[in-house]
Amino acid sequence: MTTPSADRTTRPPVATPGGTPVSQPDEAGDRLTADERARILAKSALFNPPDAALPDGRRDLVGLSREELAAELAAIGEAPFRTKQLWHWIYHQGVTDFARMSSIARPLQAKLAERFVVGRPETVVAQTSDDDTRKFLFRFRDRQEAETVYIPDPEEDRGAVCLSSQVGCTLSCRFCHTGTQTLVRNLGAAEIVGQFMGVRDAYGEWPSPKGETPRLLSTIVLMGMGEPLYNYANVAKAMTIVMDNEGIALSRRRITLSTSGVVPMMDRAGAELGVNLAVSLHAVRDELRDELVPLNRKYPIAELMAACRRYPGASNARRITFEYVMLRGVNDSEADARELVRLIAGMPAKVNLIPFNPWPGSAYQTSTRAAIERFARIVNDAGFAAPVRAPRGRDILAACGL
Ligand code: SAH
Ligand code: SF4
Repeated sequence: MTTPSADRTTRPPVATPGGTPVSQPDEAGDRLTADERARILAKSALFNPPDAALPDGRRDLVGLSREELAAELAAIGEAPFRTKQLWHWIYHQGVTDFARMSSIARPLQAKLAERFVVGRPETVVAQTSDDDTRKFLFRFRDRQEAETVYIPDPEEDRGAVCLSSQVGCTLSCRFCHTGTQTLVRNLGAAEIVGQFMGVRDAYGEWPSPKGETPRLLSTIVLMGMGEPLYNYANVAKAMTIVMDNEGIALSRRRITLSTSGVVPMMDRAGAELGVNLAVSLHAVRDELRDELVPLNRKYPIAELMAACRRYPGASNARRITFEYVMLRGVNDSEADARELVRLIAGMPAKVNLIPFNPWPGSAYQTSTRAAIERFARIVNDAGFAAPVRAPRGRDILAACGL
C-alpha cells in the first residue's frame, strides 16, 4: 500500500481518501449533542496531568504543539524559524541534548538548556519475551507509571507500539485487568508521545525513517491502559505530533485507536484525526454487553454501530476493526457469531478474535480452540476477515488486558 504524502499532513482531514466529505459531528444524531461532547471533555480535563515543568522551572518541549513551541520561543525572543529547527531535532533526529543540535549556535544552545528540556519518561522496566515482544514500564515526573508494549512482526522488520492513554481507567469492563483499577489520571501529550520516543530510543531508531522506508516501529495502536476517547484532547495532540511530516511522520493509516465505544467522541476523532478505528465490541446483545462493557448502558449497540457506519474513510482499504474477546460459554456461540455478522453487514470491517487472557481473580475462561475456530468460520464465510490474535508476550504479562 502506498501512502501519498498528502496523508501525512498535520491538518485535520476534511475529506475521506475517496473524496467524500466527512460528516459534521453535530449532524450526526439526536443524542450526539455538542453538549455531551463538552461534558466529556470537561470531565476529562479534571484528570489532566501535572504541568510539564521540572522542579527547577525548566519546561519540557516534548508534547507541545508547533504553535505552543513557537510561543515558548517567541517568549524568549527567538525567531519563528527556530520552531521548525527544534521540531526537526526533537522529533526527526530524536536528540535530547541541546548541545548536540549542531545547526543551532552555541550561545542559543546554552540559552535553551537553561530554560527547557527535551524529556523522556524514565524506563523502570524493559522486559523481553521469548517471542521478542518487549514490555516497558515508564515512570513520569509525578512517579505515576504506564506500560507500553512493542510487538515486532515475526517475519519482517516492522512492528506495533501499543501505547497507554491513561493511568487506570474509569470504565470497568469485566474481563479487563485495567478495569479493576480506578482512573488515577490522564496521560499528557508529552507522556503519550514520550512512550513512543522511549521505545524508539531502546531500538535506536533515530533519525525517524522517512516516507516508505521500512521502520521497526511502524504502527501505533492505542490499546494499552485506559480509554483514549476519555482523554481525547491529549491523545489528539499526541497523534498530531506523531503524524507531523517533519518529525516522526507516521501516517494516520498506521495509527489505530481502540475504544470501548465512547460514541460522541468517535465522530470527533474521525473528523479531526482520521486514524483507523478499532471498536471493542465483545458482545452482540445489549443485555450481555451491558455486563461485559458497562459503557454499553450509556451507548448501546445500535448507537455504537451507527457511529461506526458514520466513521469517515471506511472503505475496503480502511476497515473498522471489531475486537471480540473470546470468553468460554459467554459470548462464543454460533448464534453470537451469526448476530455479529448481521450487525456489521455492509460495513467495511474485520473482526479480531482475541482469546481471553486470564488474570488472577478474573471471572472468565478462554474459549476452546474449537469454539474460536467455529466462530471465526462463520464470520469468515460471511466475507469478513476474522483473524485469531495470537497472544504475544504472555510470559512477561504483556498480552492484551494484562
Ligand atoms: N480502552 C480501550 C483500549 C484499551 S483495551 C478499549 O477498551 O478498546 C485494548 C483491548 O484489549 C480491548 O479490546 C480490550 O477489550 C482488550 N482486553 C482487555 N482485557 C483483556 C483480556 N483480559 N484478554 C484479552 N483482551 C483483553
Ligand atoms: Fe478500560 Fe478498555 Fe479495559 Fe474497558 S477494556 S476497562 S475501556 S482499558
